[in-house]
Amino acid sequence: MIDLRSDTVTRPTPEMRQAAFDVEVGDDVYGEDTSVLKLEETAARMLGKEAALFVTSGTQGNQIAALTHCQPGDEVLVEASTHLFLYEGAAMSALAGVQPRTIEGVRGAMDPEDVRAAVRPDDIHFPKTGMICVENTHNKAGGAVVSLGNMQAVYEVAREYGIPVHLDGARLFNAVAASGISVEHYASQADTVQFCLSKGLGAPVGSIITGSAEFIQRARKWRKRLGGGLRQAGVIAEPGYVALTQMTGRLADDHENARYLADSINQIDGLRVEGPVDTNIVLVNVADLGLQAEHFLAELKKEGVLAVPFGRHTVRFVTHFDVSREHIKTAVDRVNAISWSV
Ligand SMILES: *Cc1c(COP(=O)(O)O)cnc(C)c1O
Repeated sequence: MIDLRSDTVTRPTPEMRQAAFDVEVGDDVYGEDTSVLKLEETAARMLGKEAALFVTSGTQGNQIAALTHCQPGDEVLVEASTHLFLYEGAAMSALAGVQPRTIEGVRGAMDPEDVRAAVRPDDIHFPKTGMICVENTHNKAGGAVVSLGNMQAVYEVAREYGIPVHLDGARLFNAVAASGISVEHYASQADTVQFCLSKGLGAPVGSIITGSAEFIQRARKWRKRLGGGLRQAGVIAEPGYVALTQMTGRLADDHENARYLADSINQIDGLRVEGPVDTNIVLVNVADLGLQAEHFLAELKKEGVLAVPFGRHTVRFVTHFDVSREHIKTAVDRVNAISWSV
């Protein structure tokens, strides 16, 4: 199988496996796992924040941000197709007791004036706007890089009203690789940042959330409440450290493979790539084949290629460390065969 469903399917490298084997470990709930501490310090330094927290997943990191920034009854402003809103089981409502309010963006970028218009005035009828969430790169927008300028403009509005901004940077290092802008620059346009170690960076488990020391101290308590206080966590933190320090540079290869995949698919009759390909995600519209995404994917699976539905007629392909250019060429051949046969 050539697995292009997600970059989450990447398996740990030999260096990560060795690091997990060699690690000393201690009890991280007592703050005694030196590998976790090293990972958190390194992440905080790289992002230019005071402190960081190792969490089990991106979802947990985002939810800890909502729980720590907000009070029950608050409203959270999110771009309409963000992960936090679409793909986290309404956790922010179920756990933090907040309601989301969506703002339609363009390729993942919210108009700062739309954000301003959505901020609630102080009135007995209204919830308080407790948090603004920005996603970069934007998954549903096809891995789009949200510009630093847009992030700055949104952050300016937020600061004017004293509202914290959380950056869901699950794939932030893809934005870094694509734009050449440093991770610290992106992180400077948000109060807190979550990024995944377990996607394109290849770690088996884990995400990081960064912010002020005061925020992280409160976030640590929320992590414990959520059952996320881990004991000898060095066995996963050490591979995470390898991911953070050795794997960011190779994301450009995934982006080249994605562009190659997109260019090849665009030459196939009946298939159309939706939007430009900024990073490692390629959205393909299969409507002109007369197929729904599910049917196309079922045919593709028979040919040994996996992808996921991303709308009625849209299929998402994600390139990653475990697929080579040769795999991509084979996948294109299989896609081509299907488009002929239907
Ligand atoms: C994957 C993803 C998450 C969640 O990460 P998990 O580790 O799968 O919980 C959050 N936000 C975005 C944008 C993602 O792509």
